[in-house]
Amino acid sequence: MNKIPPFDVSQQYQQIGDRLNQAALDVLASGQYIGGQTVSQFESEFAQYIGSKHGIACNSGTDALYLAMRALDIGEGDEVITSPFTFFASAETISLTVAKPVFVDIEAHSFNINLDLLEAAITDRTKAIMPVHLFGRPVDMPKLMAIAKKHDLYVIEDCAQATGAVSNGEKVGNIGDVGCFSFYPTKNLGGCGDGGMMTTNDAALDEKLRILREHGSPKRYYHEYIGMNSRLDSLQAALLQVKLPYLDKWNAQRREISDRYSNLLKAANIPHVVTPHHCPGSVWNQYTVCVGEGKRNDVQAKLREQNIITMIYYPLPLHLQSVYSNLGHQKGSFPVTEDICDRVLSLPMFPELSIEQQERVVSTLQDILQ
Ligand SMILES: *Cc1c(COP(=O)(O)O)cnc(C)c1O
Repeated sequence: MNKIPPFDVSQQYQQIGDRLNQAALDVLASGQYIGGQTVSQFESEFAQYIGSKHGIACNSGTDALYLAMRALDIGEGDEVITSPFTFFASAETISLTVAKPVFVDIEAHSFNINLDLLEAAITDRTKAIMPVHLFGRPVDMPKLMAIAKKHDLYVIEDCAQATGAVSNGEKVGNIGDVGCFSFYPTKNLGGCGDGGMMTTNDAALDEKLRILREHGSPKRYYHEYIGMNSRLDSLQAALLQVKLPYLDKWNAQRREISDRYSNLLKAANIPHVVTPHHCPGSVWNQYTVCVGEGKRNDVQAKLREQNIITMIYYPLPLHLQSVYSNLGHQKGSFPVTEDICDRVLSLPMFPELSIEQQERVVSTLQDILQ
């Protein structure tokens, strides 16, 4: 049996390789490898796609989160609220600013932070909320923004897995103070290396983010802040510029694939498998089912034997990571997150996944569990 991988970024290259080759060669011939027109053009095209006034490119989604918090003066003594069920970078960047990550448990059906528990976690030190639009599923932003406004908190959106996702008619990343995006190759808009972007509608924040990503330096060799070197290469910008016009098509394909998975799984009615909640605004970076009764790891191993490769995002919640033992959490602190971590299984998901491949995934799952 042929292998069905969890993602396959080489297929985009097969579709538009000629255009990517040409874009890369143009940059190589130009001699403009850092900054310049290609980067600023891509910044404005991306900002326009999101609907934001400003787009500030940087080296990764991680840097985008860190720089956003630095631009908002978040640091020592501050608290930032986020989800314990996310990629490590969400909390890691809070810690890098020397602020404290404060976790709030998730909702089982959306995998996102439970907004009904949010207000109880707000203290005098809370400075910001970092919603994470996990797996491409948007957090209910009108509800979150109302809480943020009431308590005068900044909102930094972690949109790393959700480029193009929509909450209440608005693209994520254009709702909070700063939207933070990743162009890691497996994200919905993936480059051929690392890359990131921040979006904002605030001119002062735009300016500060540009200064911070370039050594805190508004003018070469004059430094106003301790910043960093976090630029997007011209080469990556040129490649992403080629890919951006395809993003809506690729996201629509992901949506179609998720609908088909859900229909196939419902028809198969496999015991212990729960399909993800319907979510029209999602861009389906992952299609994640829950496998109950302690069977998840076994199911994953058996799928692998049949050459179907699935992923576990994430096996250990952030509050139980060894590096965060100082935060004083233990098993049971966030029961929904802990339960979900034991059950999640992300099925193969990429825009080019074929109907036959999906049918094979579902029928193999059925064979294993029935
Ligand atoms: C990928 C990811 C990041 C980090 O992005 P990088 O570009 O890999 O640094 C941050 N948060 C979430 C939720 C992610 O999935």
